[in-house]
Parts: sequence; C-alpha cells; structure tokens
Amino acid sequence: MPSWVLKTGPVRQRQMIVNFPVVLDNGRVEVFEGFRVQHNVSRGPTKGGIRFHPEVDLNETTALAMWMTWKCAIVNIPYGGAKGGVRVDIKKLSKRELEKLTRRFISEISMIIGPDVDIPAPDMGTNAQVMAWIMDTYSVGKGSTVTGVVTGKPVPLGGSEGRVEATGRGVITATAEACQVMEMPLEGARVVVQGFGNVGSIAAKLAVERGAKVVGISDRVGGIYNANGLPIHDLIQQYASVEGGITDFKDADQVNNEELLTLDCDILIPAATTEQLHGGNANDVKAKLIVEGANGPTTPQADEILADRGVFVIPDVLANAGGVVVSYFEWVQDLQAFFWEENEVNTKLEKIIKNSFANVLGTMQQHKTTMRTAAYIIGVKRVADATVTRGIYP
Ligand code: NAD
Repeated sequence: MPSWVLKTGPVRQRQMIVNFPVVLDNGRVEVFEGFRVQHNVSRGPTKGGIRFHPEVDLNETTALAMWMTWKCAIVNIPYGGAKGGVRVDIKKLSKRELEKLTRRFISEISMIIGPDVDIPAPDMGTNAQVMAWIMDTYSVGKGSTVTGVVTGKPVPLGGSEGRVEATGRGVITATAEACQVMEMPLEGARVVVQGFGNVGSIAAKLAVERGAKVVGISDRVGGIYNANGLPIHDLIQQYASVEGGITDFKDADQVNNEELLTLDCDILIPAATTEQLHGGNANDVKAKLIVEGANGPTTPQADEILADRGVFVIPDVLANAGGVVVSYFEWVQDLQAFFWEENEVNTKLEKIIKNSFANVLGTMQQHKTTMRTAAYIIGVKRVADATVTRGIYP
C-alpha cells in the first residue's frame, strides 16, 4: 500500500480485530492477529480480499477497504469496499496449518461476513483453495452450503468461468478503448508489461491476440526486451510458474525493472506492484499510454509529471476493476445457482469496462482533469448520492 494512501486516514464503517490461536504441526500454540474492515455499506454489501502477509495491519487494511469502495462505485457494481487479513508469513506454514489458520480466522469473523453482508475474495497470500476452505467453514456454521459467501473459488465449487483472466481482460479492454480515443491502433502498437503474474501475463497474452507487439516484459527478478516482439504464448507455457524464468529466454536483451519502465514503446502496463513510476523516472517514460494493471503503481508526483507531459493514464481503479467485476458475476451466479459460459462472462465484463471507460472519459473532458480524478469524481459521487438519498436512521 503506498504511503500516500495511508496518510489519507480513511474513516471505516465497521472494523473487527481478532486474536486467535492455531495449534501448529509441532504441537505449539501460536496466536495470530487478524482484521476485517468494512468501509462503506451505502450501495450494498461490502466486498474485498483477504490478505495473509507479515505486514498486514489495521491502517493498511482500512485504506485498502476504502480503495474497494471507490473501485466498485466507479464500475457501478452494487458493493461497498472491505478488506481483511491476518499478519502471518505463510511461507512458514504447512498446508494443514494454513487450512487451520484460515478456518479459525473465518469462524472468528463469521458474524460480520455473509452473502448479504460482506463477501471476501483472494488477495496476497490467499488463493482459490483458501476461498474453498472459507466457503466450507462458513457453510458448516450455517448448516448448509453457502457458495455466495466468498468469491474466487474453484469453478466446481461455485467459482466463475473467466475469473482467472478477468483482470487482464479488463486491462486490455480499457487499453483498446484508450487507443481509439488516442487514434493509436492497438494492432501493431508496441507494449511493455511489468509483472508476469496473473495480471501481467494475461494482459500480455490478450494484447498479442489483438495484434499488439509485446516488446518487453519483466518479473521481480528481471526483464527481457526484443524490439521485434516477444513470443508471449511460449513464454507463458515455459516460464509463468517460475519467478525469474523469463530471464532464461535467449532471443531477447536483458533489462532490469528500472530500464524496462523507460523502454521505447507506445503502451506501458505496470502490472506488478506499487510506486513503480515515481518522480525519479516519470520524465523518462516513453509510452504515450499507461494502463495501471497493478494497484497504485504511480506516485502522485509521477502522476503530475505524466499529466504535464500529456501521457494518457488509465487509473488502477478503472483499469484493473475486471477482477472485482467478475467476482460480482460469481456472486450473482452463486445466488441464482445458475452458471454462465465463459463467453457470456467475458462479454458482460467487456461491456461494463467499456461503459465505465466512456463515463470516466466524459467526466474527464467535462471537468478538464485527468482520468484518475474523473474516476474518483464518479465513484465518490455515487457513494455520496446513495448516502444522502438513504438518509440518516432514525
Ligand atoms: P502475482 O503475484 O500473480 O504477480 C505479480 C508479478 O509481479 C510477478 O511476476 C512478480 O514477480 C512481479 N513483481 C513483483 N514485484 C515486482 C517488482 N518490484 N518489479 C517487477 N516485477 C515485480 O500478482 P497479480 O495477481 O498479477 O497482481 C499484480 C498487481 O495487480 C498487484 O498490484 C495486485 O494488487 C493488482 N491486482 C490484481 C488483481 C487480480 O485479480 N489478480 C485484481 C486487481 C488488482
């Protein structure tokens, strides 16, 4: 979480702090601290990930919950934001210990989550298996299977087709919309992607499928560059599961992550982590379009520099909202117990991203501001309107 978000000191609607014991494999009992924060419930139940990470704390969890409120409002899905987490280094846990930690944490917060109340999802350190344990734990407490309590589940347990690719698909849908506005064809455009995980690899793959040329890509270890384009499908097949693997690819120049961000290209997709574009490198970025696949990859200082230079930036709250949109679809399907084919999921996702992009663009032009400010104008207004219209009880 970037420091500038933490400084905003968001006000949360409800927060829960739990301390709970887990019996480890060696018989020792360890007590863990966990949090669930529900930022705003004006527009519907809250939604947001559960993070297992050694640096999880209440402040960061609250800031991330607020971020989800705006993101859901910007793409107009009927949720407020939430976030949760446990301060734990999962690398030190066995699979059995991870399962026990998950189940005990969920039973501790079970009174404030539920399909009508607050619906968790995966985040750093949690995955589809953890979501399956969450669904099972909550269901055992209720006495019947409640698939809609959590999203990001495996497809056979009520997960949605298309969820794995959703964020990358949203990124490329927004990219294509921006290309049209900029009169810069995506076909043939030179793209650089930072990050080769879920978002980065899928965005790169879908960019290539739309005729773009991905000339640079990186992961935490390092990056590769080839002006003639990289064989993204092959790279995914060979290296997607091995961090640092892409640097073994021979038909490319090696670049480090700093160099990658300033490579000669048309479109830059930071899809790794926070604060990658900052005051020190924003002037050197060559891309005309930046699409924030990651959360918070651009600092406010870089944002100003890029705006002054006329670089078009699609902000994270819009560009990477595809994940939460398909999580919403998963919840809708679970509540109806009626499941859609992947094509239907993708078509509905693309429609929402295109409409949201058009809304944000219109607001940007109306207020003569950036896409980021325009997105927040829309998000904050939707939440404020709902709050005012609902009124104050009693
Ligand atoms: P991931 O763990 O699958 O992949 C992250 C990738 O970034 C890995 O290739 C890793 O090596 C690389 N990376 C990490 N630190 C780096 C650094 N300093 N420099 C270069 N590369 C680095 O994660 P993901 O799910 O792809 O998420 C990436 C970003 O997108 C995060 O900011 C996440 O919060 C955001 N996001 C993800 C989703 C989603 O659905 N997965 C949705 C919205 C936002």
